[in-house]
Amino acid sequence: MVNGDTVPNIDTLKLLSKIFDVSANTFLGSPRKLICQCCGMPLDDDGQISREPDGDFNEDYCKWCYADGEFVYKSVKELTDFLVGHVSNESFPPEQARAYFNAHLPQLGHWKNREK
Ligand SMILES: [Zn+2]
Repeated sequence: MVNGDTVPNIDTLKLLSKIFDVSANTFLGSPRKLICQCCGMPLDDDGQISREPDGDFNEDYCKWCYADGEFVYKSVKELTDFLVGHVSNESFPPEQARAYFNAHLPQLGHWKNREK
């Protein structure tokens, strides 16, 4: 049984995550600030976290970037085009949005070692 000074080991966590259908991070009281390593979106809620095809949470990505075991966007450019189309508006014009994503996306884990 889990008491005050015992942290469940990783296998126990995985099992609990499955049973309660919450991510391991949420189960531990969200000690880590999860961010999608593909698009940079904060993952504040388990409903936004991607899952492996077998139903396990994959806490590295949002469910829009990683679905059914596959990455949705094949390149930074593809993702940037999509994001610019969705987030830009009068106060955040497309050129500004594109500059922002061009500066930030390549620093995320998923893209870091892939392309410039
Ligand atoms: Zn994402």
